[in-house]
Order: sequence, then structure tokens, then C-alpha cells
Amino acid sequence: SGTDGATTPSPDEGFQEEEKVKSARPIQIVLANEEEHSFELDEAALENILLQDHVKDLNVVVVSVAGAFRKGKSFLLDFMLRYMHNPGESWMGGEDEPLSGFSWRGGCERETTGIQAWSEVFVVERSDGSKVAVLLVDTQGAFDSQSTIKDCATVFALSTMTSSVQVYNLTQNVQEDDLQHLQLFTEYGRLAMEEIYLKPFQSLMFLIRDWCYPYEHGYGLEGGNAFLKKRLQVKQNQHEELQNVRKHIHSCFSNIGCFLQPHPGLKVATNPYFDGRLRDIDDDFKTHLAELVPLLLAPDRLVEKEIGGNKVTCRDLVEYFKSYIKIYQG
Ligand code: GDP
Ligand code: MG
Repeated sequence: SGTDGATTPSPDEGFQEEEKVKSARPIQIVLANEEEHSFELDEAALENILLQDHVKDLNVVVVSVAGAFRKGKSFLLDFMLRYMHNPGESWMGGEDEPLSGFSWRGGCERETTGIQAWSEVFVVERSDGSKVAVLLVDTQGAFDSQSTIKDCATVFALSTMTSSVQVYNLTQNVQEDDLQHLQLFTEYGRLAMEEIYLKPFQSLMFLIRDWCYPYEHGYGLEGGNAFLKKRLQVKQNQHEELQNVRKHIHSCFSNIGCFLQPHPGLKVATNPYFDGRLRDIDDDFKTHLAELVPLLLAPDRLVEKEIGGNKVTCRDLVEYFKSYIKIYQG
């Protein structure tokens, strides 16, 4: 009943909306405590985001980017924000605009394992007139010891369970342990879901950064899908463990794709003064970024979150988060 509020906002509400956009920022919603190996959901923070009047009753689309630190996730998410703010032809912005949004930086200090969501939920109208709410999520963790692998698996499982599209951000290639980690995440997730659905999760997009074999498999989605098909192939003479990882991944997602993204150039990768401006980014990278982001976020490509075959509203998602986190706190 809350979806019929098609009234024009009062000047005051308009002002408040504008203030909200300006102060939009990433909010930590799930935090892993690495000493105690425990997890915490910031319920109040999540509710502040998802129970806003203009979104709470809309079906939600959750696009999550997941992977290890320092692999360009936040950098990509900032471009996703640009698209959401201005989805026209020139969404990527001007040559000299510094990037902002999810904080991103060089260096190699450790960050916290957990899930962050963008505080602004975007309302998108699709060509059939229906409106959906889009939540952007950043999930990160470290895989440097047995115990952190377990914490990570939990955090990644949570984000896979609560997203409609999980972008699995990797560099250079898909290594065998990337697949093993994925198996672990999805196994944790599957165990936590009350009913065993045929396919518990929705879309998985492998995103390979700094792809350097474009002559074997071209950049973009087509090359990526061909590459992934080969990489995930189950072969007769393969070790049983390798076969099982592959079968498992196929069995978990309704949709699996792969996108090969070129290297962004040395300024992006190594210059400490790089501030995200387009001028400093290689053309090849920008060309393929211009393909990738609309592939995930164009209005008619948005995938609504479903759990057990039913679409989920922002309000429902809050409840799912609460019940899923309980399972891991047990
Ligand atoms: P995150 O920790 O995964 O969120 O990584 P960030 O987005 O903070 O980026 C970490 C560093 O990698 C920054 O110095 C970026 O300039 C750089 N970077 C961003 N995208 C890429 C990429 O596609 N390839 C490479 N080599 N570096 C990137
Ligand atoms: Mg980051």
C-alpha cells in the first residue's frame, strides 16, 4: 500500500532528498570481528537504508561486488554510482572529475572484512513502468589464514544469499583456489537456507580484472563466457575434487557469466596521486567499462532479488538479513 505515493514532494521534502544525496556514503552493515571470529549485523543501519518510505515496499535489486582487498572493487562501484546518478549516454562523466563514493585507495594496509552498502537506494523505472529499488553492496575479506578464510566464507555467503547479482572480482585469471573459495561460500550459504531450492542463488558474474590474454579470449562478455565455459568444464580425466568444485558451482546459481576487463593502465595501478579521473585511465579499460556497467545496471537488465522463487521487497530483505545472520551467530 506504500507504493502508491505518487505525489510531488513538498519543497521541504525535496530539500531533504537533496541533502541525503549529498551525504550519501558507504555504510558498514556487517562487520566481522577477526579476533573473536564473530559477526555483527548493524540492524539500525540496515533499517535506515532499506526502510526509507520511498523504497521500503519496492522490489529490491541487490548488486554486490565481492572479492579480496585492493583489487579495484570500490573503483568499479564508484563508476556504478556514476551510472545510477546519470544513466544517459555520457554517464561516465568528464575527463577531469575525480571519482568519489566508496572510498578507494592504493597501498596495502589491511581493511575490515565485512559488507558495506551504499546509503542511497536508487529507484529505477523500467520500460514496463514498474519501479524497483537498487542497492549497491561492497563485500570484502582477506584470505590470508585458515581462520580468516572461514570468516570470509561466512561474509561472502551472506552477501551471496542476499544479492540478486554477485560480481566475483578477481585479477588476471580464475585460479583453482578462487573456485575453492567460491565453493566454500556457496556451501555455507546453502546450508543456511531453510529449504533446499534447486538453485539457491541467482546470478554470478566472474569479473576478471587486468585480463592479459585478449588474443585467446577477447575482452568483454562473449570472450569471458567462452573462457569461463572452458575453465568450469567438467572433464572425465580430471581429479574428482576439481570435478566436484565445478559441478557444485553450476548447481548453485541460476545464471553464471564472466566478463574480461583490460588493465586500466599504470597511472591507475601505481600512481599514488591518481584520483580516478578518466583522463588517466586507458581507453581500452573505459571502452569495456562502458559495456560492463550497463550490463549490470541498465533498467531492463536489473534482476529483482528472489528468495524461494518469490520477489523480495526492501522491507523483506531486512528480515532475511536478520534471520541469516542468526544462523552464523549460533
Ligand atoms: P578494493 O580494495 O578492491 O576496493 O580496491 P580499490 O578500488 O580501493 O583499488 C585498489 C587500487 O587498485 C587502487 O590504487 C586503484 O587505483 C587500483 N585499481 C582499480 N582498478 C584496477 C584494475 O582494474 N586493475 C589494477 N591493476 N588496478 C586497479
Ligand atoms: Mg574497497
